[in-house]
Amino acid sequence: MVKDIQLRVTLKEEEIPDILLKKSAEWLSISRDDISGIKILRKSIDARKPKIILNYKVSVFINEPVPETTDYTFNYQDVSNAKPIHIIGFGPAGMWAALRCIELGFKPIVLERGANVKDRRRDLKAINQDHFVNEDSNYCFGEGGAGTYSDGKLYTRSLKRGDVRRIFENLVFHGATDQILVDAHPHIGTNKLPKVVQNIRETILKYGGEVYFNTRVTDFTIKNKKIEAILLQNGDELPTDKVILATGHSARDIFYLLNQKHIAIQAKSFAMGVRAEHPQHIIDSIQYHCEGTRPQLLPAASYSLVQQVNGRGVYSFCMCPGGFIVPAATANGEVVVNGMSPSRRNNKFANSGIVVEINADKDLYKYEQFGALKALEFQKDLEKLAFTSGGRSQTAPAQRLTDFVEGKLSNSLNDTSYQPGLKSAPLHSLLPKLIGGSLRKGFKAFGDKMKGYYTEEANIVGVESRTSSPVSIPRNDNLAHPEITNLYPCGEGGGYAGGIVSAAMDGERCAEAATGNL
Ligand code: FAD
Repeated sequence: MVKDIQLRVTLKEEEIPDILLKKSAEWLSISRDDISGIKILRKSIDARKPKIILNYKVSVFINEPVPETTDYTFNYQDVSNAKPIHIIGFGPAGMWAALRCIELGFKPIVLERGANVKDRRRDLKAINQDHFVNEDSNYCFGEGGAGTYSDGKLYTRSLKRGDVRRIFENLVFHGATDQILVDAHPHIGTNKLPKVVQNIRETILKYGGEVYFNTRVTDFTIKNKKIEAILLQNGDELPTDKVILATGHSARDIFYLLNQKHIAIQAKSFAMGVRAEHPQHIIDSIQYHCEGTRPQLLPAASYSLVQQVNGRGVYSFCMCPGGFIVPAATANGEVVVNGMSPSRRNNKFANSGIVVEINADKDLYKYEQFGALKALEFQKDLEKLAFTSGGRSQTAPAQRLTDFVEGKLSNSLNDTSYQPGLKSAPLHSLLPKLIGGSLRKGFKAFGDKMKGYYTEEANIVGVESRTSSPVSIPRNDNLAHPEITNLYPCGEGGGYAGGIVSAAMDGERCAEAATGNL
């Protein structure tokens, strides 16, 4: 017999060997000897009260063996001679589109502008140390897309869009820890993600798919509402039958290309702001009600904050406990920040985007001339502003949190994890009022919600501008573009995903659509 039960374990109890076995036997009023094994289904931390509780959902196997298998299998087959599907972009959407094509008996041919995970490290070093942005290979572009050098947080609100568990199982199949199957807030970490991404590429190659790096798509030949050929930056022209466009939210040249070819795209509402960085111990002490170092069994604490300011949402985004702020620009002449964490989340800083909702219909009247590209142009201007106010390099403009709210230039800044360095700048007056004003009120409110959050020991760093795509690409019920019948806009760049897992799920769906299996 198998019984699923919930168990509550204190931090002290967690140190006792076989505590789950003991508690399960007590809960079920049976002898420990009758329990053949326990499988953890879910683990979460309840830190709302000073006495912290670990909540477990477990399956208890009573006088029957614990099965080894999962419900998920991936039926990859040889597709070397199968019908090709071209996939542009090898981020989560492109990777999962390619894997799904193989399962469905089609040959994925992937075209990725950036370098493979190994060579990409050299490009990241150049941004961090030499302030040079390789415009094809950086924190957003390259093998694994924007998700490779990230925190690898895997939670998603898009539960209705697909089978989240299937994506997790596939990540484990490709080398991620199986801990992600049970944690309530799973994450992989930037040190582990490249290997997983590389394993996915190896699966694609092993079964006859093709993956080309350093291969930027620059144009399409279109006839009778169909893409007939894909043009590459080296001048090559690839005839094609079906194209999955998974180029992400930062592929501005693709948005410009579609717009110039009069292929319908739309301005999309999104969010922008800054990244706030606190010493991790401050966030730990607030969230875990402790002084100094957090209890050893607990991970670096995170937070999630939201506040309405004059009817506009101000919220935390992509919080990275024990992480680093990274330079996520995709072109020289702009500064963009984002965050990543290693798997152990053991850096001494906690950072999070704190962003303000921008409504593309109501807020961007000064940018109307740019039509569908108005949100993109607004985003671009903010990133250029960050570049000039940061000192015309990847050094980012920053301010102490309290100085920003009080409207004062900071005489000095706190230590930071941001490798290219920070420069004190009056972000309170530089940011558009819509963003700066909302943030200042939002931070005050956050300080009321989390006592200790509003502190001069925190910096804010500009600008957090790539939270989601500023453009969406329409598609019909069959996920094809309404005007170009063999083009499948996919993932975050099309406006159909907002993170690694949702992009992966959308990749699978687009592969199903492109192969006639939706
Ligand atoms: P992308 O990942 O953006 O991939 C698009 C790919 O297309 C890129 O590799 C790009 O090089 C390629 N491309 C673009 N143009 C062309 C072209 N013309 N020709 C050929 N190739 C092209 N999400 C989470 O869920 N959890 C996190 O912890 C997290 N942390 C993040 C940290 C950072 C630093 C960043 C930048 C993002 C983070 N995100 C996180 C967001 C997440 O990475 C994205 O939501 C996700 O990667 C989107 O997937 P995608 O496949 O749609 O697009």
